[in-house]
Amino acid sequence: MTQPVAWLCAAATCTHELRPHELDTGQLLCDPCIRAITGWLTEVPRQLIVLEASVQRETTGSPTRGGTRTAPTPGRLDTLNLLGPGAAGSVHDPHGDQHGQLPLTAVLGAWVRLVIEERRLRGPAHWQPANLADWLRPHVGWAAMQPWAGELRDELWSMIRNVRGITQVAPRTRPVPRPCPREACATMALTQTDWDQYIRCTACGFSFTQAELNDDAARRAAA
Ligand SMILES: [Zn+2]
Ligand SMILES: [Zn+2]
Repeated sequence: MTQPVAWLCAAATCTHELRPHELDTGQLLCDPCIRAITGWLTEVPRQLIVLEASVQRETTGSPTRGGTRTAPTPGRLDTLNLLGPGAAGSVHDPHGDQHGQLPLTAVLGAWVRLVIEERRLRGPAHWQPANLADWLRPHVGWAAMQPWAGELRDELWSMIRNVRGITQVAPRTRPVPRPCPREACATMALTQTDWDQYIRCTACGFSFTQAELNDDAARRAAA
């Protein structure tokens, strides 16, 4: 009777219905969400370069003299918050004591810790945001099948949105003016997003490397 809620992607920030092949794998997140999370984790080290540079600029800028110090750039405190060390315990903050944004180390570290516990793995050698993001990335497919998958997606999305809000840097997606290499599709719907190693077809959902696209172009030219 009632449409089962379980057929929807588990992320509160996503409204996709799970497709049959996604249900078959037992994943609770839709494929686009899994791709998005992987993309955000790839994005973290790049964003850090911008975040750290902005802190550097302000701490090594003109010396403070008398009362003429220029006002700190808006977002400075947010930046320091994001780059700050993570609390040793859980990131969850039921009493709302944490002001501003949670440090990246705290957000990423809590998920890394959860994966370490549940998969009985050794954690990353270094506990910096870039290390944590790199370490977490290969586990996203597995994480998508866990009961907390939706929470992971929602929390990482909120984290990356805060980061982008400060750096004003977000990956851009451009159309790729070539037909999809899949014979059954062949739609002009390929796109490429910054920092994504794949070119993706928005019609059929398949993804291709640049080499595969080149091969396809050669094949079509020879046909
Ligand atoms: Zn989704
Ligand atoms: Zn396609």
